[in-house]
Amino acid sequence: MKRREGVWERSERLRLGLIGWPVAHSHSPEIHLAAMREFNIQGEYRLYPVPPLPEGEVALDELISEIRQGGLHGLNVTIPHKQAVGSFLDELSEVARKIGAVNTIVSRQGTLIGDNTDASGFLADLQRVFSWDLTMGGDEKWESNPHALVLGAGGAARAVVYALLSSGWSVTVAARRIEQADFLISSFGEQGDGGSLAAINLTPSELSNINAEVALIVNATPVGMSPIRDRSPWPEEIPLPSSSAVYDLVYNPIETRLMRAAREAGLSAANGLGMLVEQAALAFECWTGLAPSRDLLLRQMLGEEA
Ligand code: NAP
Repeated sequence: MKRREGVWERSERLRLGLIGWPVAHSHSPEIHLAAMREFNIQGEYRLYPVPPLPEGEVALDELISEIRQGGLHGLNVTIPHKQAVGSFLDELSEVARKIGAVNTIVSRQGTLIGDNTDASGFLADLQRVFSWDLTMGGDEKWESNPHALVLGAGGAARAVVYALLSSGWSVTVAARRIEQADFLISSFGEQGDGGSLAAINLTPSELSNINAEVALIVNATPVGMSPIRDRSPWPEEIPLPSSSAVYDLVYNPIETRLMRAAREAGLSAANGLGMLVEQAALAFECWTGLAPSRDLLLRQMLGEEA
C-alpha cells in the first residue's frame, strides 16, 4: 500500500512539535508525551522557537516544508504565529477560519490543513467542570439562550466567543479597549444560533450594569496569572453576578484570585487547565486517530500519580 504522505503510521516514530515565541515555558510536551506513553507510542514533541514575522519567516517556512514532506507528523502553533501561519497552509478548517487563528496543523495526503482545537477544548471542559449539557436543547435549566460575559477580546476570547455562540449562548465581551471588542463582535456578527453579541468597556460602571442573570463569566485576559497572582480582572468594588459560574482560562496558579472571590461568594469556579489538556488531546486525536484519557492527562498535569 502506498504510504500516505505526512500521515503518521503506527510503525513510525511520532514526530510532533510546537511553534511559538517564546515556547520554553510550554506544558505541551508534558501533555503529548503522556498521551504517547498511554498508547505505547515512541516519539517526540519538540519546541520550535520561531521569532515573530518577518524575522521568523524562513524558520516558519522550513518547519512547514518539513511537515509537508513527512519529516514531522503534526505541529501546534501558539503566540505570535496563530494568525500568520494560515497563509503558509493549503486549507483552513471552518472553525480556524471563523476564529481567525490556527493552533493545530494536520497533514492529509500532502494537503496541510490549519485547524483550531481551542474552541472545542473550551466547550468540552466547560461541560466537564460544571456538569452542563451544552448540546442543542441539552440543559433544561436554561429556558432561553443563556448569557455569558467574556473578559478580554484577544485570541483566546475569540475561540471562547465562537464556542459559546455556536452553542446558542448570548455573549457580552468586555474589553479595556472597546475597539478590540467591537472588532471581535463584528467578525462574529452573523455567527450565533439565536444568541446575541454585544461589547462593553471593562470598567466597574459598565460591569455593574450587567444583567444579574448572567450564567457564566469567562476570564480571557492574563490578569491573575503568575507572577502577578494578586490581581483579578473583576473589580473588587462590585459583586459578581449572583447566579454565575466563573471559568478562568488562567491555570497558573491553580486557584486564581478571581476564582477565590467567586467561591467565597458561593459560586462555582474552574481554571483553564482542563481546556489546555482538552485542546491538546483533540490535536493528538487529529494526528493519530487515538483519543487520550483526559483524566489521565489532567492527573499528570496536577502531578498526581497517573
Ligand atoms: P491575547 O491575545 O494577548 O489577549 C489578551 C486579552 O486580555 C486582550 O484583550 C488584552 O487587552 C487583555 N488584557 C491584557 N492585560 C489586561 C489587563 N491588565 N486588564 C484588562 N485586560 C487585559 O492573549 P490570549 O492568547 O487571548 O490569552 C489570554 C489568557 O488566556 C492568557 O492568560 C493565556 O495564558 C490564557 N489561555 C489559556 C488557554 C487554556 O487552554 N487554558 C488557551 C489560550 C489562552 P489588550 O490588547 O488591550 O492588552
